Amino acid sequence: MTMPSRVPVLFVSFLLPAIAFIGAQSGTSAAASGPSSTFGYKDFAVEQAHTDQTFLAVPDAQLAGEELKILTAEPHIAASPEDLKTAQYVASKFKEAGLETTIVPYKAWLNLPISVKVEAWDADGHLLMTGPVPEHVDAKEPFQDDPRVTPAFNGSSPSADITAEVVYANYCRPEDYDKLSEMGVDVKGKIVLCRYGGNFRGVKVYIAQQRQAAGVLIYSDPADDGYYRGDMYPNGPWRPATAVQRGSVQYLFKYPGDALTPGIASRPDLPASKLLKPEDAANMPKIPSEPLSWHDASPILEHLGGPDAPREWQGALPFTYHIGPGVKVHMALKMDYQYRTLWDVIGTVAGAEFPDEWVVAGNHRDAWVYGAVDPNSGTAAMLEAVHGIGTLLKSGWKPKRRIVICSWDGEEEGLIGSTEWAEDNTTHLAHAVAYFNTDVGVSGPNFEASAVPSLKEFVRDVTKDVPSPKGGTVYDQWKKAQAEQAHRRGFNGVEEHAARGNAHVENDVTVGDLGSGSDFTPFIQHLGVPSTDIGSEGPYGVYHSVFDDYAWFVMNADPTFVYEQEMARVFGLEVLHMADADVLPYDYETYGKEISAYLDAAQKKAEETGLTSLDFTAAKAAAEKFTQLAEQVRDKQQSAAASGSPQQLATLNAQLRDVEEDFLSAPGLPHRPWFKHTIYAPGEYTGYAAVVIPGVNEAIDAKDLSRAQAQMIVLTGALNKAVGTLESITK
Ligand SMILES: [Zn+2]
Repeated sequence: MTMPSRVPVLFVSFLLPAIAFIGAQSGTSAAASGPSSTFGYKDFAVEQAHTDQTFLAVPDAQLAGEELKILTAEPHIAASPEDLKTAQYVASKFKEAGLETTIVPYKAWLNLPISVKVEAWDADGHLLMTGPVPEHVDAKEPFQDDPRVTPAFNGSSPSADITAEVVYANYCRPEDYDKLSEMGVDVKGKIVLCRYGGNFRGVKVYIAQQRQAAGVLIYSDPADDGYYRGDMYPNGPWRPATAVQRGSVQYLFKYPGDALTPGIASRPDLPASKLLKPEDAANMPKIPSEPLSWHDASPILEHLGGPDAPREWQGALPFTYHIGPGVKVHMALKMDYQYRTLWDVIGTVAGAEFPDEWVVAGNHRDAWVYGAVDPNSGTAAMLEAVHGIGTLLKSGWKPKRRIVICSWDGEEEGLIGSTEWAEDNTTHLAHAVAYFNTDVGVSGPNFEASAVPSLKEFVRDVTKDVPSPKGGTVYDQWKKAQAEQAHRRGFNGVEEHAARGNAHVENDVTVGDLGSGSDFTPFIQHLGVPSTDIGSEGPYGVYHSVFDDYAWFVMNADPTFVYEQEMARVFGLEVLHMADADVLPYDYETYGKEISAYLDAAQKKAEETGLTSLDFTAAKAAAEKFTQLAEQVRDKQQSAAASGSPQQLATLNAQLRDVEEDFLSAPGLPHRPWFKHTIYAPGEYTGYAAVVIPGVNEAIDAKDLSRAQAQMIVLTGALNKAVGTLESITK
């Protein structure tokens, strides 16, 4: 899932990671003095430069292309025989490279469609459409007609057979539903027609359910990822008429993973008595939903009567959009729910000096259909990174820390493979020093990244060591592209960012915040493992459709696979640098400054909301103290790297790692205890985008003063715990 997203386009994806608002800078000047690429090493030139050179020479563009072709030869939805074949293929590549490799099965409560039908009639009872029509373009498209392609459906939708009036609700964001209420339109008992974009599709259904709608249809408007953006496939990269965005509507902002086992691993031997009943699973929608192409949605929209939709709600179809009524829809969805088996592939390399410290890196392998971009462009890059690690191993190199490379299954249905594995390995992961994710590895030539603040500079540094196919380094091109975008957009990003309560303090390339929408979620937000997410992006209109296939990829994304090679190098260097650093290269100064900026923004919002008595004093003092101590800790990191004894290094690294864990609160967020991080969570009403200091911010949004005060105490407690850890380092 992961949506092509870091562009501020109201554009889709299952889990779309946080949008990095380009050009956003808070008033604070900042972290100009971040760590350099030698940060964390006694002598980078002696210790690491040679390893890097050996590694960087290996990832091969042509091989990545061949691997991508093999991975995407057949539709391979989670739990299918073809999915198992891809697991075996990835396992064979891991073994070839010398990784100790196992295929680890988990179970998950998953639906597959037996039949889906949507029909619509106008007010006179004339049939307007029967769908969904198969995804098809009039061209020799080699993949579109495979009988194994599942019809369009939503993961986690219940079965249903309902008929109701339709209401058009734009992106189905909270403000869109509010606008309908203002207009006197009630969605109770209606089928809500939403367009993709603006939030995670599960949120559209979640709010519809709260407002007692009967069902939800979600369609792709050509304004958002179709002909309004550019030529449609097969003439260009944008969504053709019949292409549907499948996707999960799981309420993953409650908890991701197997619906029946929140917080515990759904191993095949788990006794049935441990499973929730499906009707008690809080992350399962209670109302049905179905995705549509604009080909199928258009006759419904065109015949809606009632008031004009607000101008901003107008899409790119050639008529004026109305709210309704005037069209009745029949949704008949027959789902086959079963407890199905999924397969993660886990490859490890033992650590020579700090064997208990894990460096984990992963990408999902399952796809809604072929998944050339999402996710197998990431898998091919990961396999070429593993190829490079294999060459190092054969040369006698041993990493200082344990390396764990993961090929996740069931991500599309709700981050299942990663969540279950993380829940299965909590003890070991308590010592994990980082989790590196890639999902949509390559959809085009523009590098983007999201990370916890402590690793933002680390990601930038890695990109300074990797050449770009465009010339210079990946970092140079990334910086240049962001500057151009900020210029074009007139720095609107600043306002957007401020509006969301996020505020970045770097005055360098912007690295986004981690929301949800991909497999880093269990690591950072449940277990407190510092995480990053990287990808290389471009115009991508075939997300989660049959056309996200090898033919689309070589035409539009990366014809010569040089961006695959680039991603393999960046992903691999993240792993190598973290595995071999003498001192963990976390940048807590930036973290502290970002937290202060989040608190300032939240305070401003609280004042505007009328929660003037909410007291930020203690939390702000803790954040400032954190930043001050982090400066001293940086000196300590540098001096220890230069001259620390092995024992001193081990102690320091353990303390450094504890800081992120200090940000966890055992009870978790209100109403969603699985999410334990006090600084980052996916928004309950945004889904993909990060909500920062979520306990406090969401209480302010709900205008709930007593909850906000209670959450402020939790946050301040976590900050002070982290201050205590930093203090113990400086002593
Ligand atoms: Zn994905």
